[in-house]
Amino acid sequence: MKYYAVNKATEEVCQVGRLLFDKGFVAANDGNLSVRLSEDVILTTPTGVSKGFLEPDMLVKVNLQGEVLEGKTEPSSELKMHLRVYSERQDVQAVVHAHPPIATTYAIAGIPLDQAMMPEAVITLGTVPVVEYGTPSTEEIPNAIAHYIHSYRALLLENHGALTWGKDIFSAYYLMETLEFAAQVNFNLKLLGRERELSKGRVQELLTIKEKMGIKGESPAGISCGSGESVCKSAAKQTGMPMSITRSELETLAELITEKVLFKIRKEK
Ligand SMILES: [Zn+2]
Repeated sequence: MKYYAVNKATEEVCQVGRLLFDKGFVAANDGNLSVRLSEDVILTTPTGVSKGFLEPDMLVKVNLQGEVLEGKTEPSSELKMHLRVYSERQDVQAVVHAHPPIATTYAIAGIPLDQAMMPEAVITLGTVPVVEYGTPSTEEIPNAIAHYIHSYRALLLENHGALTWGKDIFSAYYLMETLEFAAQVNFNLKLLGRERELSKGRVQELLTIKEKMGIKGESPAGISCGSGESVCKSAAKQTGMPMSITRSELETLAELITEKVLFKIRKEK
């Protein structure tokens, strides 16, 4: 396994911190970043510092138990969820946590991003489930995400924000950008009242490309992932998983049912 050299890791964490800040994905001191320096040594961002103004000497080296090995600052209290990703996934070299406004809106509303609307999102992002709420800094979030990090590429953290990871910090950051863009477009489409999904046939074509590219991760609901993988379902639609519905969605559903019933009655008269 090839790990990050400390100089490169330090430089890239500071660069990605500025990108998160410039993009408006973090407010005040929100968000945290980390990269893996060896099997059990992680370099991470400090608590209480804006990610737009990180300096190399602010970063902290910790082990997988969260004990500080080197550094003048304290790591973020949200480090535990990063450590859980590294413990569960030996292939992961970097983790990004941020609060991008539209993705966070979806996380608070409890709406997963599971519709196949854009080719890039189907291939690189896949389905993004909402992970059940946990109090920041406790073991609740690490325990909640453990169930998802083997099957997905990005997560919405209920009433909180978003989490991505990857083979390097730019891969994890770009997934955060793709996630926020997909959420923004989905939100705009909801405003227009016209959410046009790609057909199953078109999605299947994209999943074939995804498989050829060796990209893993759950795909939009009800579509086969290709040979060797079972039929994919969104997290919300998995057996036994709770599904949330908003008041306006419920009202729309009630209106549709009423219209259908009235139409049937009129037809029968
Ligand atoms: Zn957070």
